[in-house]
Amino acid sequence: MATNHYDVVIVGGGLAGLSAAAYLSSRGKKIALLERGALGGRAVTLKIKGFNFNFGAHAIYSRDTSVLRTFEKELDLHIDWQDFNPNKAKYDLGDALTDVPANLQGLFRTKVLKGLDKVMFTFEVLKTMLKMETGHPHLSIQKWMEKKHVSEDVQEMMLTLASSNFFTREPEKIPSDVFFQYYRRLFTTNKPVAYIGGGWQALIDEFVRVIEQNNGTILTKTKVESLRVEDDRVVAAVTAEGEITGDEFISCIPPKEMVKVFKDTKLEHAISQYASYDPTYVVVYDVGLKNRIDVPYTYIYDKQNNIFITDISYYDTTCVPEGGQLLQATAYINQSDLGNKENIEQRKAEIEQLYDKHFPGWREELVVPRVSTRAVVQEIKWTMTQKPMPTFLPDYRNLFFAGDWCEGQGQLSELSFSSAYQVSNLILEK
Ligand SMILES: Cc1cc2nc3c(=O)[nH]c(=O)nc-3n(C[C@H](O)[C@H](O)[C@H](O)COP(=O)(O)OP(=O)(O)OC[C@H]3O[C@@H](n4cnc5c(N)ncnc54)[C@H](O)[C@@H]3O)c2cc1C
Repeated sequence: MATNHYDVVIVGGGLAGLSAAAYLSSRGKKIALLERGALGGRAVTLKIKGFNFNFGAHAIYSRDTSVLRTFEKELDLHIDWQDFNPNKAKYDLGDALTDVPANLQGLFRTKVLKGLDKVMFTFEVLKTMLKMETGHPHLSIQKWMEKKHVSEDVQEMMLTLASSNFFTREPEKIPSDVFFQYYRRLFTTNKPVAYIGGGWQALIDEFVRVIEQNNGTILTKTKVESLRVEDDRVVAAVTAEGEITGDEFISCIPPKEMVKVFKDTKLEHAISQYASYDPTYVVVYDVGLKNRIDVPYTYIYDKQNNIFITDISYYDTTCVPEGGQLLQATAYINQSDLGNKENIEQRKAEIEQLYDKHFPGWREELVVPRVSTRAVVQEIKWTMTQKPMPTFLPDYRNLFFAGDWCEGQGQLSELSFSSAYQVSNLILEK
């Protein structure tokens, strides 16, 4: 590999690395993006027998106020937004289906809340929107609601919401300040959930288009083994083929990888703390069906078992062969379930039962199942005992961090985009 010097070297070609590379190159920086495998990271779209399986529903929350929307405007990305229809979202209560109170109509019709509790819930939503509830970093959402004497049914409603948005079976552990910050955005948006036509791949292609148009360098199958440091600066990314030097560096690789790359540097100890935190894991069980099984809803959340199914092909018709259907099911899991094969098998069986219940005949139509028993939805789960990583540390002032394990706005990919946007601007302002 010819030695080359760059303004910014970006390590990791997931959504954080790609968006930072696109943004910085569009602003005139000479960038190199180094990715050990293929571009996209966890935001992968796998083509199997004519079905495009996205890892995750690629649901973008509050898209109108999202950082992805900012990237879309500033980089002139072409994104085919497919907005979620809240009238087609249901909670499965075991013996009945009911509306998700995702809008006024849903709130009016839902059976999850009764009479006065609907008014109280609306009041909680209003208080959140008006910043009258801000929470406290040292109180979990559960403790906060108890302190505020929120009725039990409204508490349960808030925790059900949090469970579905934070992909967790333990929503009560979410810090209350994080909870209110998250829902302030979600409650004030006109576009709570949207999918991307063409899936994650369409988005990756758009970032690559911008990088290439601005003469950025993308090196795939290029694993960074270590970073060479001198005093208080990072000077080079070391790969098997040679060194890539730069003025600024952005590390867009998860802490568990970073800790290897930063071995023997001043950051080894600091990073090992974040590497020790638990990620948010889920079981994914998607199915590609030959023929559509039409039902009156596109999203079902099994409240008891914390499993949701999305009929993704209803929104993104490009992900299936003609007449087909792609259903995505995700089961949230407890950390303790991870090492327990039986519990994981049990979760898979529960997903199949939910398919049986709501999409009868799916087994006969099945062309391809896609199962992942240990999918990392977010590298650091936000609980009272874990926190996201800062976007820079004082030891090396030309080194930044971005990814869904970093501080930023929202959860999931929004954390990757917001941290990438923030560090890119810090570099541009230098
Ligand atoms: C099942 C599932 C469902 C999801 N659903 C949603 C959803 O609906 N909405 C949403 O917004 N988000 C969702 N997500 C989360 C979203 O996929 C992630 O937040 C996002 O893709 C993270 O991107 P990232 O760039 O921060 O990290 P990553 O994708 O982890 O990227 C890190 C990259 O670094 C590379 N790398 C690692 N080590 C090295 C090295 N030494 N040298 C070079 N490269 C290296 C990796 O190969 C990878 O490409 C879901 C995730 C999963 C798994």
